[in-house]
Amino acid sequence: MRAVEIAAVGAPLRLTRRPIPEPGPGEVRVRVEACGVCGSDVFLQKGGFGDAVPFPVIPGHEAAGVVDALGEGVADSADLAVGDQVALYYITTPAGDPWAAAGRPNISPHVSRMGVDVDGAFAEYVIRPPAALVKPRAHVPPPVLAVLTDAVATPLHGLKRVAHLAPGETLVVLGVGGLGSNAVQIGKAMGARVIAVTRSEAKLRLARELGADETVPADEGDPVAAVKALTGGYGPDVVIQCVGSAAVDEQAIAMGGPGGRVVLIGSSLDHFRARAVDIFWRELSVLGSRGFIPDDIRDAIDLYLDGRLAVDHLVETVRPLEEADAALEDLKAGRGFRSVLTP
Ligand SMILES: [Zn+2]
Repeated sequence: MRAVEIAAVGAPLRLTRRPIPEPGPGEVRVRVEACGVCGSDVFLQKGGFGDAVPFPVIPGHEAAGVVDALGEGVADSADLAVGDQVALYYITTPAGDPWAAAGRPNISPHVSRMGVDVDGAFAEYVIRPPAALVKPRAHVPPPVLAVLTDAVATPLHGLKRVAHLAPGETLVVLGVGGLGSNAVQIGKAMGARVIAVTRSEAKLRLARELGADETVPADEGDPVAAVKALTGGYGPDVVIQCVGSAAVDEQAIAMGGPGGRVVLIGSSLDHFRARAVDIFWRELSVLGSRGFIPDDIRDAIDLYLDGRLAVDHLVETVRPLEEADAALEDLKAGRGFRSVLTP
């Protein structure tokens, strides 16, 4: 099969050939129809996931496909058949994992990640266990299904399961990129008033098109003061911080209102400064949100199928596997929104 691999830390993505993988007992072979290219792939290439990555590795963790072959024992235990459309959950955990048993496989210290710890979906085929497959209730265009599995599921997890955003609350979204643009839409779908803070005029316009009630330019004046002015001087109920920047982490904490929840999903490696007194005085909750769980993928699919989620801006650049490295370079350079590969 055709696949794209990263041979070593810092190496470009290169096209290669691998044997078509055979599903072992309890495994499923999926024919990949689409796989998103994401900032985590840049992180992987830079060596950000550490020494345990088995280079050369096939990246690709935002994938959609079709069940191609069932390993021994799968047909008896899972509601899966060859030809079924599936979204792929990129995490698996060992049997008996207590975090997974509590419904939180995303935070298990023992996660195995498709496209990081095991070969991913920048390939024609990939092997997954049935528990990592989510069947949509109706057909979804493959590039859309791929972005629902990560770019939509990640902010959905942060807003629904971590921040517990409630109808009528005010939500501030910091950064209107691949994650923040969806946070705007999910916030509206959950009944919040949404204020989007971002840099370029194009992204401010996109935020308004996606339903933001107000927008604040991040690079004109003080966005914290602008947000406070829009919230009666108090600050919002929830802030979701989608920008990989410690300076923006500090803005997120500074703008949260009394009793507010600040959710960090942007992954800056830099330190930010905060004062305990500023956090306890407002009873502010500063919350981490890591990835998502399969139910977030199901919720994202339902939002899309219910017509409550615009995805055109996420799938405007669909490219063949051969352009994987160009897609990654575009992402690094901030060109375009994001790319989806169709093997
Ligand atoms: Zn991703």
